[in-house]
Amino acid sequence: MSDISLNAQRFKGRPASPGLVEGPIVLFRGREASPGRAPVHSPGASDWAELDAAMTRTAERLGALRGDARNAQAADILDFQVEVLSDPTLIESLARARTAGRLPADAWTSALAAEIAGLKASPDGYFRERASDLEDLHDRLLQQLAGASDPELALPERAIVLARDLAPSRFLEIPWGPGHGLALMDGSPTAHVAMLARARGLAVAVGLGAVPARHGSIALLDGAGGELILDPSPADRREAERRNAPAATATIAPGRPGLQSGLARTRDGTDIELLVNLNELADLDGLDPSAVDGIGLARTEFLFARLGLSDGRFPDETLQLDVYRRILDWAAGRRVVIRTLDAGGDKPVPGYTDGSESNPFLGLRGIRLSLARPGPFRTQLRALIRAAAIGPLDILIPMVTVPEELMSVRALIEAEAADLDRSGISRGQPRLGMMVEVPAAALTLDRFEVDFASIGSNDLAQYTMAAGRDEGAVSGLADICQPAVVALIDSAVAHARKRGLRLGLCGDAAGNAELIPLLLRHGLRSFSMPVRALGPVRQAIAAIDLGGGA
Ligand code: PEP
Ligand code: MG
Repeated sequence: MSDISLNAQRFKGRPASPGLVEGPIVLFRGREASPGRAPVHSPGASDWAELDAAMTRTAERLGALRGDARNAQAADILDFQVEVLSDPTLIESLARARTAGRLPADAWTSALAAEIAGLKASPDGYFRERASDLEDLHDRLLQQLAGASDPELALPERAIVLARDLAPSRFLEIPWGPGHGLALMDGSPTAHVAMLARARGLAVAVGLGAVPARHGSIALLDGAGGELILDPSPADRREAERRNAPAATATIAPGRPGLQSGLARTRDGTDIELLVNLNELADLDGLDPSAVDGIGLARTEFLFARLGLSDGRFPDETLQLDVYRRILDWAAGRRVVIRTLDAGGDKPVPGYTDGSESNPFLGLRGIRLSLARPGPFRTQLRALIRAAAIGPLDILIPMVTVPEELMSVRALIEAEAADLDRSGISRGQPRLGMMVEVPAAALTLDRFEVDFASIGSNDLAQYTMAAGRDEGAVSGLADICQPAVVALIDSAVAHARKRGLRLGLCGDAAGNAELIPLLLRHGLRSFSMPVRALGPVRQAIAAIDLGGGA
């Protein structure tokens, strides 16, 4: 057989997570499919009969979901979406666009865009929520039109999900399994979706540019090389295997003998705190709590994604308390740091975050949004204060920039605690900490009234270097090794030492064994990382001699 495929088409992007997958392409529309964004390549969507068929399939799918709906609210949304599909005004508007010779996908987007904008502008919360239901319907239909699989259905074995970009909440809806891969035409290795995919151990390539692949066509995804190859040759396969071989052996599972027991210690005997980052409760499956010092960062915006947060509705206090209880039970007295909702930036929550911001990373994100819309924040604080009665719990606040923000948080915590006391509901006394991910916070850490702090190296790098973590073209700049970022880490460490403040690092850098020597030499002694990084990081720590100095 010939080693050369005359048809091979190569799309070179950037590596985001090593691994090799050869299998069928599954087209998936994610964040890019929102009205108002540029339409993307959509194979086979130029035929109006396909739009009719996609509408029928969408109505059938929604009808089936309606049958399974477990609560009245979900049923109500699904009824509304089905109704819209047969709305005479919508049908008329599509018919006009057809006569005018427009593309079906564009016509669908325009038909819904005006309606969505009107609902969003409504002063009535009920109608604003309906806007996100319409957006969801818009995306669902485009998925059907592109021939993409329904996120609720299983992916075929060795599937490579191909999308322009994917919002983290969309990523979490996909039923990923071992052996799946993710190929993004846009995106960057430091975006949240890439981080989530890495934590799952998927092969990921980003920034591939336009890939005109058809749903179901066979491709080779080379995670280490950051490449997608359509119709690959045996030579392509061998080359990709060679490139991904080190990753296949270097990823040391936390359960490997010798890496589970004992705390992390440098060669010269300095103890290092080793914590894990939690994006989903499933991250804890198979992880022995005695292998770590606890949880250093539970990202609740991801933990809640399965509980209805993506609809702009928030899990109620009881549901949240249940999630926190499960984490605290697992930790069995070890440290547990739970971060309050960090919505905004590249983690939009339809119906909650403001979709019209020109630069969401510099807008209402994290604590800014929580304080601007205190209702859901108070519920979260209340559930956290109650959970603190179960075991030691640290509340971590994201995107803190000025001391006043923390003062407002403290006041809210005190008010909720007093209310719980009045109602005779048991509660604890959580410690309050802040993320150090805005340069202003790193420079002035001594001014904040906190019990502990944690450096978010992902955002600290992007905000210091003015390079968006989701912008492929500049993501290389957002590098923690840049002297300016290191200088800010030094500043935070110096302030923390002076104040006797507990300081750790929970960004991606903590899970990169190659960066551990640098971070240790700059005085950090506590790291929180994805579970699969524990083995290599523990080894890197054991190999370093700090010579007794800090
Ligand atoms: C960070 O910014 O480094 C961090 C840990 O927070 P997130 O990645 O969730 O923004
Ligand atoms: Mg961050």
